[in-house]
This record gives sequence, C-alpha cells and structure tokens, in this order.
Amino acid sequence: MSKPLSGRTALVTGSTSGIGLAIATAFAEAGARIGLNGLGTPEQIKAATNQLQKAGAPDVRYFDANLMDPAAIDKMMAEALKWGGGVDILVNNAGMQFTASVADMPVEKWQAIINLNLSACFYTMRHALPAMAARGFGRVINIASVHGLVASIEKAPYVASKFGLVGLTKVAALEYAAAGDRASGGVTVNAICPGWVETPLIEPQIMARAEKFGGDRAQGYKNLVLEKEPSGRMADPSDIGALALFLCSKAAHNITGTAVPVDGGWTAQ
Ligand code: NAD
Repeated sequence: MSKPLSGRTALVTGSTSGIGLAIATAFAEAGARIGLNGLGTPEQIKAATNQLQKAGAPDVRYFDANLMDPAAIDKMMAEALKWGGGVDILVNNAGMQFTASVADMPVEKWQAIINLNLSACFYTMRHALPAMAARGFGRVINIASVHGLVASIEKAPYVASKFGLVGLTKVAALEYAAAGDRASGGVTVNAICPGWVETPLIEPQIMARAEKFGGDRAQGYKNLVLEKEPSGRMADPSDIGALALFLCSKAAHNITGTAVPVDGGWTAQ
C-alpha cells in the first residue's frame, strides 16, 4: 500500500531531538525521505538516523549545518534541493530559549535567539519556496509557539522571534498562495504554535519550578503547566508530528497562512 508521503522529501531542521525528531518520525512512517539536521554527538545523530530508517524512511541524509551561520544554511539548501528530487516539505523547527528580564537579557542571547528562531527560517524558505512553486506542490511548516501569539515575561527574544516567525509565515503564504492547484496540492506555508510540549528544551523550566517544591519534579510540572494551560497537561511531541503530517496532505491544500495553536486552551483565554 502506498504511504501518504511516498516519493516526497522532507527537510526538518533541529530533528536530532524533541519536536523535530517526532515530526521527522511521523514523516518517515508516512514514507518520506528525511533530511535530518541539528546539533548532537555522532551517537545522537546515528540514533536519530536509525530511528527514522526503522520508522520507514526510504532514505535519511544528515545535513550538518549550524543554523546560526547563513552561509552554512545556503550550502545545506543547495545540497538538499539537488537530493532526492528536491525539498517538497520544509519544517523550520530548530529553536532555542533563554529566560531573563529585558534589563538582564544578555545581548548575545538576544542575537542568538533571533538568528536561530527567526532569521534561519527566512534563509531556508527563500531557497525552498521557488522550487516548490515550480513543482506546484510544497509545504513549509514553521514551528513557532504560543509565544508567537501571546507574550510571557522574561522571554523577550523568544517572543519577538516567534511573533516574527508568524509574520514571516503569513507573508510567504500570501506570496505563494496561487502556486499549483487542488490536484497538485498547492504550496502552503503555516505555523504550528505549541504551548507546553514535553521535550529537553523545557526541562530547565520544569526543574526551576520544582525548586519551589523541594525539588519535586511532578509538582513543578503541574504548577508550571496550570499557570497557563487549562488542560493541565503538556502535548507529546508526537501530537505535533501528527498535525504536521496532516498539513502535508493534499486535503490541506487550502490551509495556508495560519498559526495553529496546540496549547490546551492557553490562547483561548
Ligand atoms: P529541543 O531542544 O529538544 O530541540 C531543538 C533542536 O534544535 C535540536 O535538534 C537542536 O540540535 C537543534 N538546534 C539547536 N541549535 C541549533 C543550531 N544552531 N543549528 C542547528 N540546529 C540547532 O527543543 P524542542 O522543544 O523540540 O523545540 C523545537 C521547536 O519547538 C523550537 O523552535 C521551540 O521554540 C518550539 N517550541 C517548543 C515548545 C516546548 O514546549 N518544547 C513549545 C513551543 C514551541
């Protein structure tokens, strides 16, 4: 039986860990070739590659670009566009966080977060989108955050980068809205805006909260989540993978320029 992404190639940035690896796994299960990218030890990269092959990816290629470096992104995109028939699906997922007040935020952290969470997405999209338009099919999925829709204290560069990413998503969606058609699947650009997702990125925030409860992680977790999410639970990375997979389907050909929250009701309040 043919799988929904058979013959497609997906490049997922920051896919050595967390949400990126879960999205890449969902795509691999659907039969896509996977372009893997992200930091990590050779063992971590090998483990991610094995996981994706086992999940069903017919081919997995690791792109070692550090996304802080625009020249490295240009090189990765040039190579990816020539590999496996080009980039049908681009997921801009790599991201970082650092918490401090505006007054205390180190300038280098501001620059690093804007570079990785926002500028790197522009650098990948500007290469990927023209080729998608030429084929009449393409999917760009930007992993933003609820912090692309609402703010929280002590996250100035993160919130600024994610609001910026939602804006970039909308502009690109409009510019490519008429590419392709219903039969080819069209070219869509969307943002997914997760609330809390249980990954290594947020572990320091759970543990900081746990300190208030004598180091009890379970209590720290509950306290952190309930402050914002009426559901009282975090999403699993695979939930984000399932949504990304739906956005890649032909049925989603007319969903573009959206910023979809997966946030347990956080932004409904
Ligand atoms: P994570 O720390 O588990 O994974 C981040 C990935 O980005 C890793 O693969 C890492 O190697 C890669 N990366 C970091 N710096 C890089 C660089 N310079 N070049 C290339 N790759 C780099 O984090 P995660 O929680 O899976 O987060 C993934 C995305 O989801 C981020 O954009 C994050 O802002 C967003 N997000 C996460 C949550 C959450 O609760 N975990 C919520 C909302 C949004």
